Formats: sequence, C-alpha cells, structure tokens
Amino acid sequence: MELKIDQPHTARMYDYYLGGKDNYPADREAAEQAIATFPTLRTTARANRSFLHRATRFLAGEAGIRQFLDIGTGIPTSPNLHEVAQEIARESRVVYVDNDPIVLAAARALLTGTPEGRTAYLEADLHDPAAILASAALRETFDLGRPVALSLIAVLHFFPDERGLRDIVRTLTGALPAGSYLTISHATGDFAPERMDELIGIYRRRGLAAQARGRAEIARLLDGLDLVDPGISVLHRWRPDSSDEAGLTDAEIAGYGVVARVP
Ligand code: SAH
Repeated sequence: MELKIDQPHTARMYDYYLGGKDNYPADREAAEQAIATFPTLRTTARANRSFLHRATRFLAGEAGIRQFLDIGTGIPTSPNLHEVAQEIARESRVVYVDNDPIVLAAARALLTGTPEGRTAYLEADLHDPAAILASAALRETFDLGRPVALSLIAVLHFFPDERGLRDIVRTLTGALPAGSYLTISHATGDFAPERMDELIGIYRRRGLAAQARGRAEIARLLDGLDLVDPGISVLHRWRPDSSDEAGLTDAEIAGYGVVARVP
C-alpha cells in the first residue's frame, strides 16, 4: 500500500483516539468528527486495548500458547501484545501483520522483545490470507505443528463483504493446528444503532470501508470453533480484571470481544 497522508487512515485515526502522536491533519480531522458523533470513542478504543491485554494474558497463561499471529496490529501502543505475552512466557513468538507502511515502520523500530522470544513483521493484506500463511516471516518464526493464537482485533469491521470475510477467517483458522485460538473484537450497532450508523458513515464518506456487525453475524464468523467462556461479550465484560470499566454501559463501548478455540 502507498503512503498517503493527505487521506485519513484507520490506523492513524485509532492512534489519535488513543492519544498517540503518529497521525496527520487529515487523520485528526476525521477522528475529531468521529468523536463528535460517537463521544465515547476514546473510551471504546481504550476498552479494546484492555480486552487485547486480558485475552493475551489468558492465551499465554491458562491456554499455554507461545505463538501469536496478530493481523491488523496498529501503531505500537504500550503495552503491546508481545510485551503482555512475554511477561508471562519470555519465549513467546509474535508475528505482526499490517498493510499500513507507517504501522510497519513504527513497529520495526519499537516492537523488539525478549532475547528468548522472537518478533517478526510482515507488510501484507488480510484480503490475501494465503499470502500471509505462505510468508517467510510466518514460516520462519512459528512451528506450525504447535498451536497459534491468531488475533484479528478491531480490524474485521473494515471488511464489509460478509461472505468474503467468512472465507478469510476460515482460510486462516483452517491452516492452524487443533488447539489454536482466534481472538476477535468488532464494532457493533446492537446497542446504539443510530449513532453507530453515523460513525460508519464518517469512515465511508472518506473512502474507508467500514461495517458494524451484530452478535449473530459475529457468531457466524466463528462457525465450527469452540467459544471460550464467556463467549461473545461486550469488550469490558469479557473476563474483567479490574473495576475501572465496570460503570460503562454496552452502548458506550459498542464493541464485542470473543476468544474461540480451533477444535
Ligand atoms: N489491532 C490493534 C489496531 C486496530 S486498528 C488494536 O486493536 O489495538 C486497525 C488496524 O488494521 C490498522 O493498523 C490498519 O492498518 C489495519 N488494517 C486495516 N485493513 C487491513 C487489511 N486489509 N490488511 C491488514 N491490515 C489492515
């Protein structure tokens, strides 16, 4: 993908919601409009990061996973996935994948990790999952005889084509050994449908594909996988570990999180 900074980009808008500095005027303008439309968006972005941390702690801890494939990584935001996993198991290996060159440049500079573990970076598009699976980055970093935790966090809502998305998810999970996991988070209009529609419109009017999905549509993406307790949950209700977000409503968060196991 080309580097275009006169157009807003999803990774840099999200970086702005999180208070990061890797964004340009076009990103900030679009992000400000998004926040004006959906005033709790910054809270949602933070709740999404905390979900990523809790899911990764579950995967590296209870589930014993040591290999992590994170597609749609985003601009580095501390703590990053490999830091959370390597705090639990220093030998954890992580392959980060994104299609935004700014994300990859920042990631290479910042996402290093423990000497026992390994981190690799791949500039690739989730629309072509076979290329990701065949990549040297993945083949050289992972032992594909062992389970992998695949994460697609806050990225699938940029894929409007329902059937195409199901095929992408199936191609990826179908290539992973039994005992692997898939973690998803996704924007939903189930709780504040009108406001979510307006938010999606802000992205689409700027040429950014965007699509909220309901619980049933997210469940269909996970067909054939075993949901880890508590199943598809609003982000801050998935195995909460502090009371910080307890007072937030589902409409304020407007995103689902789920972890599922490949049988
Ligand atoms: N997963 C991170 C970042 C989410 S922002 C988190 O939840 O904190 C969404 C990310 O997906 C951005 O970095 C964007 O560049 C990336 N992305 C969007 N479309 C993509 C595609 N088709 N292929 C790969 N990455 C994509």
